Amino acid sequence: MLGPVILAASRSDRMRRLISAAPVTKSVVDRFIPGETVDEIVPIIEDLTGKGLEVTMDVVGEDITTPEQAMAARDAYLELIGRLEELGLGARAEMSVKLSMFGQALPGGHELALANVRPVVEAAAAIGTTVTLDAEDHTTLDSMFAIHEELRKDFPGTGCVIQAYLFRTEADARRLAASGSRVRIVKGAYKEPASVAYQNKHEIDKAYVRILKTLMEGEGYPMIGSHDPRIIAIAQDIARRAGRKLDEYEFQMLYGIRGEEHLRLAAEGHRMRVYTAYGTDWYGYFMRRLAEKPANVRFFARSMVSK
Ligand code: FAD
Repeated sequence: MLGPVILAASRSDRMRRLISAAPVTKSVVDRFIPGETVDEIVPIIEDLTGKGLEVTMDVVGEDITTPEQAMAARDAYLELIGRLEELGLGARAEMSVKLSMFGQALPGGHELALANVRPVVEAAAAIGTTVTLDAEDHTTLDSMFAIHEELRKDFPGTGCVIQAYLFRTEADARRLAASGSRVRIVKGAYKEPASVAYQNKHEIDKAYVRILKTLMEGEGYPMIGSHDPRIIAIAQDIARRAGRKLDEYEFQMLYGIRGEEHLRLAAEGHRMRVYTAYGTDWYGYFMRRLAEKPANVRFFARSMVSK
C-alpha cells in the first residue's frame, strides 16, 4: 500500500520542497542519481562503459512550468552530448528523455516538445547514437507516440517506451513491432487509475510477457527494461524461440539497482544498458524509485531519523 502513497507524494509540490531541502537526502539520493553536473557524471559513465556496459543517460527533470525551462533541458542534453563526443563515447551512450521536461504540458506543448527534442535527436545522431522517449503518465502518451513517429521519419533509430500495466499497450506494441521500431518495454512507474491500467502485479507481469513476445517476434529492436529475475529468464527464452541473436535485443536496468546482475548479463554476452540519471531536479525520479520497493522507503526513513 506504501507505493501508491509515495507516488501521490511524487506529484505534490509541498512534499517536493520538504524532501528536496532535507539535509540527509543527498547521500540516499546518490544511490539512484549519482551526480548533479556533467563533470560529476562523466566518471560514472567512464566506469560503467569500462566494465563493458552501455548507458542511456537521463538528465532528471519533469513537470516544468516555462518555455525557458524547456530550452534549458534541451541545452543540458546538448552539453552532455558534446562531452560524450569529446570522450569518444558516442556509440556507447544513448539518451533517454522525458517530453514533459521539453515543454509537453505547456500551452502549445506538443509542438514545443517536438521543437526542443529534435535538436537533441540530431546531435545524438551526429555522434552515432540514439534517443529514446520515456513513457510518462497515460495522458501524455498519444503526444509522445506522435512525436516518436515524426522523429522516426528522419531518425529511424529513435526509440520509445511502452508500459505493460496499461491496457492500451498490447495494441501499441503490435504497431511498433510491425514498424521496426526500437522499443523499451517496462512494467510502468506512475500511479494510474483502474480504468486504464492493471493494478495487480501478477496481471502486469503476464501482460509484460505477452508484449515482450510481440516485440521479439516483430521487426523492431526490443529493449527489456526490468530488474525482475523471472522476467529476465523468460525474455531470454522468448528471444531464443524467436530466433533472435544476442545483438538483436538488449537488457536495460536502472543505475543503483541490481548492479551485480548488470555485470552478469554483460559477461554472458548480452548487451546491457544502464539507465543513468543525473541532475539537480531529482525529486520525481527519486520518489518513483522509493515507490517501487518498500525497503527503499525504510532505508530513506532511517537515514532521516539517524541524522
Ligand atoms: P519489479 O517487480 O518492480 O521488481 C523486481 C525486483 O527488482 C524487485 O524485487 C527488486 O529486487 C528489484 N527492484 C525493482 N525496483 C527497485 C527499486 N526501485 N529499488 C531497489 N530494487 C528494485 N517506467 C515508466 O513508467 N516509464 C519509463 O520510461 C521507464 N523507463 C525505465 C527504464 C529502465 C531501463 C528501467 C529498468 C525501468 C524503467 N521504468 C520506467 C520503471 C519501470 O516501469 C518499473 O517501475 C521498474 O523497472 C520496476 O519494475 P521491475 O520490472 O524491475 O520489476
